[in-house]
Amino acid sequence: MNVKTIDLVVPCYNEEEGLANFVLETNKVIDTLPAYSFRYILVNDGSRDKTYLVMKKLAAEFDNIKYISFSRNFGKEAAMYAGLQHTSADYVVVMDADLQHPPALFGQMIDALENEGFDCCATKRDEREGESKFRGLFSKMFFGLSNKLSDVKMPYGAMDYRMMTRQMVDSILELSEVQRFSKGIFSWVGFNTKWISFKTVDRQLGTTTWKFSSLFRYAIDGITCFSVAPLRFTAVMGSIIFLISLIYIIITLIQTLFFGITTPGYVTTLCAILFMGGITEMSIGILGEYIGRIYMESKDRPIYITKFSNFEDEHNEERNL
Ligand code: UDP
Ligand code: MG
Repeated sequence: MNVKTIDLVVPCYNEEEGLANFVLETNKVIDTLPAYSFRYILVNDGSRDKTYLVMKKLAAEFDNIKYISFSRNFGKEAAMYAGLQHTSADYVVVMDADLQHPPALFGQMIDALENEGFDCCATKRDEREGESKFRGLFSKMFFGLSNKLSDVKMPYGAMDYRMMTRQMVDSILELSEVQRFSKGIFSWVGFNTKWISFKTVDRQLGTTTWKFSSLFRYAIDGITCFSVAPLRFTAVMGSIIFLISLIYIIITLIQTLFFGITTPGYVTTLCAILFMGGITEMSIGILGEYIGRIYMESKDRPIYITKFSNFEDEHNEERNL
């Protein structure tokens, strides 16, 4: 029986403090699974600290560590895509470098793929400890809304941490859009996913890079990347307002023709103007959101740019230093 291979895709942004520890802890779990051959694909997403040097040192120490280093910060989504592009293993894991995604789940994930017939074993958090009430409420709202609006469904608390079969990874790579929303992409490609939940732990070292504003952006991305429901919403709203105004016109017409009432209508006019102005602005905003996306996508820019890498096939491999 030949050994099954597993690639671990790890996006890293400013992880100099924790990266070595991450590899150490993960190696402990790998050692308990001798039937599998593991390989790390560390992606340095333009870190401002010494993450790249730590990576290089680790790669020199362990020969199952590969790395890609970006020319600047392209975001976690781009880092995941780059990592996935470089995988060749039977199974692929996507996980964070801060040990918030426990490697101890590998065994359970392999079991789901090999013995339970799943193509993917993904995680969701069951408790949101250490997270502010406001943020928790916000993510709940986001999951509810995006599940309602788009055709991709994901459970509340769904995380990127997962193990997938080669077939599923290849399908994911076929979605080469620049504006990536992985959670949605993972479910868009289909396949059978088993959801396991675990209690999240606080980040050990370093700081989280997510600000509330980026979380908001993320929510908007999640909805607009996979659904045109907001566009339809503006059309439906326009039709409803049109119908209401038609009724209002008829009523006013009858009133003036038969009863001769001439109300000043100052407030009514003002309300109507403000209301319509608001609705129009909002619709243009929604429209703009999609047009902006078309614009960015139509430029067809690369998702990331590699500066250094220790993959042999990479032409821009670092020669000296
Ligand atoms: N990350 C990245 N690029 C970024 C931001 C984050 O590659 O621009 C990586 C980061 O190094 C970590 C993972 O994405 O491995 C998740 O980041 P973080 O822990 O800050 O987010 P959270 O756990 O709060 O979702
Ligand atoms: Mg984290």
